[in-house]
Amino acid sequence: MPAEGPPGDVVTTQAADDRVETGARILVVDDHEDNIEVLRLRLESWGYRTDAVQDGAAALRVVEQSPPDLILLDVMMPEISGIEVARRVKANRSLPFIPIIMQTALDSTEAKVEGLEAGADDYITKPIDFAELKARLRSMLRIKRLQEALEERERELLEVNERLRHMSQTDGLTGLDNRRHLNDRLEEMFQHAQRLVEPFSCVMCDLDHFKSVNDTYGHQVGDEVLKQFSSILKDEAREIDRVGRYGGEEFMLLLPGTVLDAGVTFAERVRKRIEGHTFSFPGGSLTRTASFGVAGWPHPKIQACDSLVRAADDALYVAKEMGRNRVVRFDGHDFNAHLATRDGADARSSAEDRPSVPEHGASLSG
Ligand code: GH3
Ligand code: MG
Ligand code: MG
Repeated sequence: MPAEGPPGDVVTTQAADDRVETGARILVVDDHEDNIEVLRLRLESWGYRTDAVQDGAAALRVVEQSPPDLILLDVMMPEISGIEVARRVKANRSLPFIPIIMQTALDSTEAKVEGLEAGADDYITKPIDFAELKARLRSMLRIKRLQEALEERERELLEVNERLRHMSQTDGLTGLDNRRHLNDRLEEMFQHAQRLVEPFSCVMCDLDHFKSVNDTYGHQVGDEVLKQFSSILKDEAREIDRVGRYGGEEFMLLLPGTVLDAGVTFAERVRKRIEGHTFSFPGGSLTRTASFGVAGWPHPKIQACDSLVRAADDALYVAKEMGRNRVVRFDGHDFNAHLATRDGADARSSAEDRPSVPEHGASLSG
Protein backbone atom coordinates (compact mmCIF):
# COMPACT_ATOMS: atom_id res chain seq x y z
CA MET A 1 0.00 0.00 0.00
CA PRO A 2 1.50 3.38 -1.00
CA ALA A 3 2.22 5.83 1.79
CA GLU A 4 -0.11 8.72 2.25
CA GLY A 5 1.18 12.22 1.60
CA PRO A 6 1.35 14.72 4.41
CA PRO A 7 -1.91 16.33 5.48
CA GLY A 8 -2.81 19.21 3.23
CA ASP A 9 -1.22 17.58 0.22
CA VAL A 10 -3.91 18.77 -2.15
CA VAL A 11 -5.16 16.38 -4.81
CA THR A 12 -4.46 18.79 -7.66
CA THR A 13 -0.69 18.41 -7.33
CA GLN A 14 1.17 16.21 -9.75
CA ALA A 15 2.38 14.01 -6.87
CA ALA A 16 -1.17 13.33 -5.82
CA ASP A 17 -2.11 12.60 -9.42
CA ASP A 18 0.63 10.02 -9.67
CA ARG A 19 -0.21 8.50 -6.35
CA VAL A 20 -3.78 7.70 -7.28
CA GLU A 21 -2.82 5.83 -10.42
CA THR A 22 -2.37 2.56 -8.62
CA GLY A 23 -4.64 0.71 -10.96
CA ALA A 24 -7.62 0.64 -8.62
CA ARG A 25 -10.45 -1.35 -10.22
CA ILE A 26 -13.70 0.52 -10.57
CA LEU A 27 -17.00 -1.13 -11.40
CA VAL A 28 -19.24 1.14 -13.44
CA VAL A 29 -22.93 0.25 -13.20
CA ASP A 30 -25.26 2.10 -15.57
CA ASP A 31 -28.16 0.96 -17.73
CA HIS A 32 -27.13 3.35 -20.53
CA GLU A 33 -24.31 2.08 -22.65
CA ASP A 34 -23.39 5.61 -23.77
CA ASN A 35 -22.84 6.70 -20.15
CA ILE A 36 -20.71 3.65 -19.55
CA GLU A 37 -18.49 4.41 -22.53
CA VAL A 38 -17.93 8.02 -21.48
CA LEU A 39 -17.17 7.06 -17.87
CA ARG A 40 -14.80 4.25 -18.82
CA LEU A 41 -12.82 6.48 -21.14
CA ARG A 42 -12.37 9.07 -18.40
CA LEU A 43 -11.56 6.61 -15.67
CA GLU A 44 -9.04 4.78 -17.81
CA SER A 45 -7.42 8.05 -18.84
CA TRP A 46 -6.89 8.66 -15.11
CA GLY A 47 -5.17 5.29 -14.76
CA TYR A 48 -7.96 3.22 -13.26
CA ARG A 49 -8.95 -0.20 -14.47
CA THR A 50 -12.64 -0.55 -15.16
CA ASP A 51 -15.39 -3.13 -15.39
CA ALA A 52 -18.88 -2.24 -16.52
CA VAL A 53 -22.29 -3.82 -16.29
CA GLN A 54 -25.73 -2.57 -17.30
CA ASP A 55 -27.98 -3.89 -14.55
CA GLY A 56 -28.11 -4.50 -10.83
CA ALA A 57 -28.10 -8.30 -10.97
CA ALA A 58 -24.93 -8.33 -13.08
CA ALA A 59 -23.36 -5.82 -10.71
CA LEU A 60 -24.02 -8.07 -7.72
CA ARG A 61 -22.54 -11.05 -9.60
CA VAL A 62 -19.33 -9.18 -10.43
CA VAL A 63 -19.02 -7.91 -6.85
CA GLU A 64 -19.38 -11.45 -5.52
CA GLN A 65 -16.92 -12.96 -7.97
CA SER A 66 -14.20 -10.35 -7.81
CA PRO A 67 -14.86 -7.43 -5.51
CA PRO A 68 -13.82 -4.14 -7.16
CA ASP A 69 -12.07 -1.34 -5.27
CA LEU A 70 -14.99 1.02 -5.81
CA ILE A 71 -18.45 1.02 -7.41
CA LEU A 72 -19.75 3.92 -9.44
CA LEU A 73 -23.43 3.16 -9.29
CA ASP A 74 -26.35 4.60 -11.22
CA VAL A 75 -29.44 4.94 -9.04
CA MET A 76 -32.05 4.79 -11.75
CA MET A 77 -32.01 1.34 -13.27
CA PRO A 78 -34.84 -1.04 -14.16
CA GLU A 79 -35.40 -4.17 -12.03
CA ILE A 80 -32.80 -3.97 -9.28
CA SER A 81 -32.23 -0.29 -8.55
CA GLY A 82 -28.91 1.22 -7.54
CA ILE A 83 -30.29 1.69 -4.04
CA GLU A 84 -31.00 -2.03 -3.75
CA VAL A 85 -27.56 -2.92 -5.11
CA ALA A 86 -25.95 -0.66 -2.48
CA ARG A 87 -28.05 -2.21 0.26
CA ARG A 88 -27.12 -5.76 -0.73
CA VAL A 89 -23.42 -5.03 -1.19
CA LYS A 90 -23.21 -3.38 2.23
CA ALA A 91 -25.19 -6.18 3.85
CA ASN A 92 -22.77 -8.83 2.58
CA ARG A 93 -20.38 -9.31 5.48
CA SER A 94 -18.04 -11.53 3.49
CA LEU A 95 -17.07 -8.63 1.22
CA PRO A 96 -14.26 -6.20 1.97
CA PHE A 97 -15.09 -2.52 2.34
CA ILE A 98 -16.09 -1.35 -1.17
CA PRO A 99 -16.83 2.36 -1.41
CA ILE A 100 -19.97 3.12 -3.42
CA ILE A 101 -20.46 6.42 -5.20
CA MET A 102 -24.03 6.87 -6.41
CA GLN A 103 -24.88 8.80 -9.53
CA THR A 104 -28.10 10.70 -8.88
CA ALA A 105 -30.16 13.23 -10.73
CA LEU A 106 -29.36 16.82 -9.79
CA ASP A 107 -32.78 17.56 -8.34
CA SER A 108 -33.40 14.29 -6.52
CA THR A 109 -32.68 14.93 -2.84
CA GLU A 110 -34.82 11.92 -2.04
CA ALA A 111 -32.62 9.56 -4.07
CA LYS A 112 -29.47 10.95 -2.43
CA VAL A 113 -30.85 10.45 1.06
CA GLU A 114 -32.17 7.01 0.23
CA GLY A 115 -28.87 6.04 -1.38
CA LEU A 116 -26.81 7.18 1.58
CA GLU A 117 -29.15 5.39 3.95
CA ALA A 118 -28.86 2.24 1.89
CA GLY A 119 -25.10 2.36 2.47
CA ALA A 120 -23.69 4.44 -0.38
CA ASP A 121 -20.61 6.29 0.79
CA ASP A 122 -20.93 9.33 -1.44
CA TYR A 123 -22.88 10.58 -4.43
CA ILE A 124 -22.28 12.61 -7.55
CA THR A 125 -24.98 14.35 -9.51
CA LYS A 126 -25.67 13.97 -13.19
CA PRO A 127 -24.62 15.44 -15.51
CA ILE A 128 -21.27 14.48 -14.11
CA ASP A 129 -18.65 17.14 -13.49
CA PHE A 130 -15.47 15.15 -14.12
CA ALA A 131 -13.20 17.29 -11.95
CA GLU A 132 -15.54 16.62 -9.07
CA LEU A 133 -15.76 12.92 -9.91
CA LYS A 134 -11.97 12.68 -9.92
CA ALA A 135 -11.75 14.27 -6.47
CA ARG A 136 -14.51 12.12 -5.02
CA LEU A 137 -12.95 8.93 -6.39
CA ARG A 138 -9.65 9.84 -4.81
CA SER A 139 -11.17 10.64 -1.50
CA MET A 140 -13.10 7.36 -1.42
CA LEU A 141 -10.10 5.28 -2.47
CA ARG A 142 -8.03 6.99 0.21
CA ILE A 143 -10.66 6.01 2.80
CA LYS A 144 -10.58 2.47 1.48
CA ARG A 145 -6.81 2.32 1.85
CA LEU A 146 -7.02 3.63 5.42
CA GLN A 147 -9.75 1.15 6.20
CA GLU A 148 -7.64 -1.71 4.85
CA ALA A 149 -4.62 -0.57 6.83
CA LEU A 150 -6.79 -0.48 9.94
CA GLU A 151 -8.10 -3.98 9.29
CA GLU A 152 -4.57 -5.25 8.76
CA ARG A 153 -3.47 -3.72 12.06
CA GLU A 154 -6.46 -5.29 13.77
CA ARG A 155 -5.54 -8.69 12.33
CA GLU A 156 -1.94 -8.29 13.50
CA LEU A 157 -3.10 -7.28 16.95
CA LEU A 158 -5.39 -10.28 17.20
CA GLU A 159 -2.54 -12.55 16.15
CA VAL A 160 -0.16 -11.07 18.69
CA ASN A 161 -2.83 -11.37 21.38
CA GLU A 162 -3.39 -14.98 20.47
CA ARG A 163 0.35 -15.70 20.63
CA LEU A 164 0.63 -13.96 24.00
CA ARG A 165 -2.37 -15.83 25.34
CA HIS A 166 -0.83 -19.13 24.26
CA MET A 167 2.55 -18.24 25.75
CA SER A 168 1.00 -17.20 29.04
CA GLN A 169 -0.75 -20.57 29.35
CA THR A 170 1.96 -22.89 28.13
CA ASP A 171 5.09 -24.32 29.67
CA GLY A 172 7.96 -23.38 27.39
CA LEU A 173 9.95 -26.59 27.67
CA THR A 174 7.23 -29.22 27.37
CA GLY A 175 4.40 -27.39 25.62
CA LEU A 176 2.01 -28.58 28.35
CA ASP A 177 -0.31 -26.29 30.30
CA ASN A 178 1.63 -24.27 32.85
CA ARG A 179 0.72 -24.26 36.49
CA ARG A 180 -1.38 -21.11 36.42
CA HIS A 181 -3.41 -22.26 33.45
CA LEU A 182 -3.81 -25.69 34.98
CA ASN A 183 -5.14 -24.14 38.19
CA ASP A 184 -7.65 -22.09 36.21
CA ARG A 185 -8.81 -25.15 34.31
CA LEU A 186 -8.96 -27.14 37.54
CA GLU A 187 -11.31 -24.64 39.13
CA GLU A 188 -13.51 -24.62 36.05
CA MET A 189 -13.58 -28.41 35.67
CA PHE A 190 -14.13 -29.04 39.35
CA GLN A 191 -17.07 -26.65 39.47
CA HIS A 192 -18.50 -28.30 36.38
CA ALA A 193 -18.13 -31.72 37.97
CA GLN A 194 -19.86 -30.54 41.15
CA ARG A 195 -22.70 -28.94 39.21
CA LEU A 196 -23.41 -32.11 37.25
CA VAL A 197 -22.40 -34.41 40.12
CA GLU A 198 -19.91 -36.09 37.82
CA PRO A 199 -16.80 -37.83 39.12
CA PHE A 200 -13.48 -36.06 38.70
CA SER A 201 -9.97 -37.30 39.31
CA CYS A 202 -6.63 -35.61 39.78
CA VAL A 203 -3.28 -37.34 39.26
CA MET A 204 0.00 -35.91 40.48
CA CYS A 205 3.18 -37.51 39.25
CA ASP A 206 6.85 -36.92 39.74
CA LEU A 207 9.90 -38.49 38.15
CA ASP A 208 11.93 -40.59 40.54
CA HIS A 209 15.48 -39.52 41.32
CA PHE A 210 15.38 -37.07 38.49
CA LYS A 211 18.12 -34.96 40.01
CA SER A 212 20.58 -37.75 39.24
CA VAL A 213 19.74 -37.44 35.53
CA ASN A 214 20.97 -33.89 35.58
CA ASP A 215 23.92 -34.79 37.77
CA THR A 216 25.00 -37.69 35.58
CA TYR A 217 24.13 -36.55 32.04
CA GLY A 218 23.73 -32.81 32.33
CA HIS A 219 20.83 -30.42 32.30
CA GLN A 220 20.17 -30.73 28.57
CA VAL A 221 19.55 -34.45 28.84
CA GLY A 222 17.36 -33.68 31.86
CA ASP A 223 15.31 -31.37 29.66
CA GLU A 224 15.03 -34.04 26.98
CA VAL A 225 13.78 -36.56 29.54
CA LEU A 226 11.16 -34.06 30.73
CA LYS A 227 10.00 -33.55 27.15
CA GLN A 228 9.70 -37.26 26.44
CA PHE A 229 7.96 -37.81 29.75
CA SER A 230 5.49 -35.07 28.84
CA SER A 231 4.71 -36.60 25.46
CA ILE A 232 3.97 -39.93 27.10
CA LEU A 233 1.55 -38.25 29.53
CA LYS A 234 -0.08 -36.37 26.68
CA ASP A 235 -0.30 -39.53 24.62
CA GLU A 236 -1.94 -41.54 27.39
CA ALA A 237 -4.43 -38.81 28.31
CA ARG A 238 -7.71 -38.38 26.48
CA GLU A 239 -8.63 -35.31 24.49
CA ILE A 240 -10.80 -33.99 27.32
CA ASP A 241 -8.12 -34.43 30.01
CA ARG A 242 -5.73 -31.64 30.90
CA VAL A 243 -2.07 -32.33 31.30
CA GLY A 244 0.18 -29.76 32.84
CA ARG A 245 3.59 -29.17 34.29
CA TYR A 246 3.03 -28.35 37.92
CA GLY A 247 6.64 -27.77 38.89
CA GLY A 248 10.16 -28.80 37.84
CA GLU A 249 9.63 -32.54 37.31
CA GLU A 250 6.17 -32.71 38.77
CA PHE A 251 3.09 -33.03 36.57
CA MET A 252 -0.62 -32.88 37.11
CA LEU A 253 -3.40 -34.52 35.12
CA LEU A 254 -7.06 -33.58 35.43
CA LEU A 255 -9.45 -36.33 34.40
CA PRO A 256 -13.08 -35.25 34.10
CA GLY A 257 -15.82 -37.87 34.32
CA THR A 258 -13.33 -40.27 35.93
CA VAL A 259 -13.95 -42.10 39.19
CA LEU A 260 -11.02 -42.68 41.54
CA ASP A 261 -10.70 -46.36 40.52
CA ALA A 262 -10.39 -45.40 36.88
CA GLY A 263 -7.93 -42.64 37.78
CA VAL A 264 -5.76 -45.21 39.55
CA THR A 265 -5.98 -47.58 36.58
CA PHE A 266 -4.96 -44.77 34.28
CA ALA A 267 -2.00 -43.82 36.49
CA GLU A 268 -0.91 -47.44 36.69
CA ARG A 269 -0.92 -47.66 32.89
CA VAL A 270 1.24 -44.55 32.62
CA ARG A 271 3.56 -45.81 35.36
CA LYS A 272 4.15 -49.06 33.48
CA ARG A 273 4.74 -47.25 30.23
CA ILE A 274 7.32 -44.94 31.82
CA GLU A 275 9.01 -47.91 33.47
CA GLY A 276 9.36 -49.61 30.09
CA HIS A 277 10.38 -46.51 28.17
CA THR A 278 13.93 -45.90 27.05
CA PHE A 279 14.73 -42.21 27.10
CA SER A 280 17.09 -41.75 24.18
CA PHE A 281 19.24 -38.71 23.68
CA PRO A 282 22.27 -37.92 21.53
CA GLY A 283 25.05 -40.07 22.89
CA GLY A 284 23.05 -42.45 25.05
CA SER A 285 19.89 -43.58 26.69
CA LEU A 286 18.49 -44.17 30.15
CA THR A 287 15.45 -45.51 31.93
CA ARG A 288 13.56 -43.87 34.75
CA THR A 289 10.49 -44.50 36.87
CA ALA A 290 7.85 -42.17 38.23
CA SER A 291 5.57 -42.06 41.26
CA PHE A 292 1.89 -41.19 41.22
CA GLY A 293 -0.70 -39.94 43.66
CA VAL A 294 -4.37 -40.09 42.73
CA ALA A 295 -7.37 -38.43 44.37
CA GLY A 296 -10.96 -38.35 43.22
CA TRP A 297 -14.16 -36.47 43.82
CA PRO A 298 -16.69 -37.12 45.27
CA HIS A 299 -14.95 -37.98 48.51
CA PRO A 300 -15.96 -37.07 52.08
CA LYS A 301 -12.61 -35.39 52.75
CA ILE A 302 -12.56 -33.40 49.52
CA GLN A 303 -14.83 -30.38 49.28
CA ALA A 304 -12.90 -27.99 47.08
CA CYS A 305 -10.36 -28.13 44.30
CA ASP A 306 -7.44 -27.20 46.52
CA SER A 307 -8.18 -30.10 48.86
CA LEU A 308 -8.39 -32.37 45.79
CA VAL A 309 -4.91 -31.29 44.67
CA ARG A 310 -3.55 -31.54 48.19
CA ALA A 311 -4.98 -35.06 48.47
CA ALA A 312 -3.32 -36.15 45.20
CA ASP A 313 -0.09 -34.53 46.32
CA ASP A 314 -0.23 -36.29 49.69
CA ALA A 315 -0.80 -39.60 47.93
CA LEU A 316 2.20 -38.87 45.70
CA TYR A 317 4.25 -38.14 48.76
CA VAL A 318 3.31 -41.48 50.28
CA ALA A 319 4.21 -43.19 46.98
CA LYS A 320 7.68 -41.65 47.27
CA GLU A 321 8.05 -42.69 50.88
CA MET A 322 6.90 -46.22 50.10
CA GLY A 323 9.78 -46.67 47.69
CA ARG A 324 8.77 -44.83 44.46
CA ASN A 325 7.70 -46.30 41.10
CA ARG A 326 4.17 -46.84 42.34
CA VAL A 327 0.65 -45.45 42.31
CA VAL A 328 -0.95 -44.52 45.63
CA ARG A 329 -4.63 -43.75 46.01
CA PHE A 330 -5.61 -41.03 48.46
CA ASP A 331 -7.34 -42.49 51.51
CA GLY A 332 -6.77 -45.98 50.15
CA HIS A 333 -5.41 -48.90 52.14
CA ASP A 334 -1.71 -48.28 51.37
CA PHE A 335 -2.06 -44.60 52.02
CA ASN A 336 -3.70 -44.99 55.40
CA ALA A 337 -1.57 -47.92 56.51
CA HIS A 338 1.56 -46.04 55.64
CA LEU A 339 0.54 -42.92 57.52
CA ALA A 340 -0.57 -44.93 60.55
CA THR A 341 2.77 -46.73 60.69
CA ARG A 342 4.63 -43.53 60.19
CA ASP A 343 2.66 -41.71 62.84
CA GLY A 344 3.27 -44.58 65.18
CA ALA A 345 7.00 -44.32 64.61
CA ASP A 346 6.86 -40.54 64.89
CA ALA A 347 7.83 -40.40 61.29
CA ARG A 348 7.46 -36.61 61.15
CA SER A 349 11.14 -36.32 61.97
CA SER A 350 12.17 -38.36 58.92
CA ALA A 351 9.55 -37.05 56.55
CA GLU A 352 11.42 -34.00 55.34
CA ASP A 353 9.31 -30.89 55.49
CA ARG A 354 5.82 -31.94 54.46
CA PRO A 355 3.20 -30.72 56.89
CA SER A 356 0.30 -31.22 54.51
CA VAL A 357 -0.25 -34.96 54.92
CA PRO A 358 -1.53 -34.91 58.52
CA GLU A 359 -4.17 -32.34 57.57
CA HIS A 360 -6.01 -35.14 55.83
CA GLY A 361 -5.18 -37.63 58.51
CA ALA A 362 -8.05 -36.83 60.86
CA SER A 363 -9.82 -40.13 60.38
CA LEU A 364 -6.86 -42.32 59.58
CA SER A 365 -7.05 -45.90 60.64
CA GLY A 366 -4.82 -48.85 59.79
P1 GH3 B 1 12.43 -37.75 43.96
O1 GH3 B 1 12.46 -39.16 43.50
O2 GH3 B 1 12.30 -37.64 45.42
O3 GH3 B 1 11.42 -36.95 43.26
O4 GH3 B 1 13.87 -37.16 43.63
P2 GH3 B 1 14.24 -36.11 42.52
O5 GH3 B 1 15.69 -36.11 42.36
O6 GH3 B 1 13.44 -36.39 41.29
O7 GH3 B 1 13.66 -34.79 43.14
P3 GH3 B 1 14.34 -33.47 43.59
O8 GH3 B 1 13.20 -32.58 43.97
O9 GH3 B 1 15.39 -33.74 44.61
O10 GH3 B 1 15.06 -32.92 42.32
C1 GH3 B 1 14.34 -32.40 41.26
C2 GH3 B 1 15.33 -31.99 40.23
O11 GH3 B 1 14.68 -31.57 39.04
C3 GH3 B 1 16.18 -30.85 40.65
C4 GH3 B 1 16.09 -29.84 39.55
O12 GH3 B 1 17.35 -29.35 39.18
C5 GH3 B 1 15.51 -30.63 38.44
N1 GH3 B 1 14.75 -29.82 37.51
C6 GH3 B 1 13.68 -29.05 37.78
N2 GH3 B 1 13.26 -28.42 36.65
C7 GH3 B 1 14.09 -28.80 35.66
C8 GH3 B 1 14.17 -28.49 34.27
O13 GH3 B 1 13.37 -27.73 33.70
N3 GH3 B 1 15.14 -29.07 33.55
C9 GH3 B 1 16.04 -29.92 34.14
N4 GH3 B 1 16.99 -30.46 33.37
N5 GH3 B 1 16.00 -30.21 35.44
C10 GH3 B 1 15.04 -29.68 36.21
MG1 MG C 1 11.33 -36.24 41.37
MG1 MG D 1 9.98 -33.07 42.61
